[in-house]
Amino acid sequence: MRIVILSDIHSNLAALEAVLRQAQSQGVVDGVWCLGDTVGYGPQPGECIARLRELGVVAVVGNHDRAATGGIGTEEFNPQAAAAARWTAERLSAEEKSFLDGLPEVEYVQGDFTLVHGTLRWPMWEYLYNYEAARAHLERQETPFGLVGHTHVPMLVVEGREFENGCEMSYLEDGERVQLSRGRKQVVNPGGVGQPRDGDPRASYVLYDSDGETVTLHRVEYDIAATQKLMAEARLPAWLSERLAIGR
Ligand code: ZN
Repeated sequence: MRIVILSDIHSNLAALEAVLRQAQSQGVVDGVWCLGDTVGYGPQPGECIARLRELGVVAVVGNHDRAATGGIGTEEFNPQAAAAARWTAERLSAEEKSFLDGLPEVEYVQGDFTLVHGTLRWPMWEYLYNYEAARAHLERQETPFGLVGHTHVPMLVVEGREFENGCEMSYLEDGERVQLSRGRKQVVNPGGVGQPRDGDPRASYVLYDSDGETVTLHRVEYDIAATQKLMAEARLPAWLSERLAIGR
């Protein structure tokens, strides 16, 4: 079974389509799991939601998904993100909003995977990018494998008493394959599809293959200019568009 693991699509349909095309060109895709922030920042929220639903996605909610439905306020957002959240809220239908509102904060798949946007301590908000947050998450993770998003940076966390901090954290590069192991807890962040932040503007995702129990990180070029053109037409904040080209 081959599963595409996505996070932080952020209404960027061109990036989402490029990822799906690449994943499908390598073989049959049996499922899509999404770690939140399907909307927010970008120009095509409804289209991205529709595409995921068509694929029968298993998804959790992100902070931007909740902000776009009015489920949470935007006080914690920077001004550009708040403006994009208001723009998104005006464009989503009541039905699309109820889909987003129906997404859980934490989801379990196949008994082995825990899906959450941030961390299991603060599901919608906490960035898993330091040892303290990693330990807080791992303590609460009851399955061998965890999948998180939110940072937009592809990363692997491996729990182990032999490590000084109780776990080891490393960045994942394009093409890097990780052998999962049930002997110790692991957490994988597939990076951001629609707004990468590790300096590489290519869309980022992970493919899980249940046969060998591996996850492989992939980076995919997409038509960044096409998304930027739609953002300009929508009058979304310029910085949100500019950052796509530099991967920040
Ligand atoms: Zn995000």
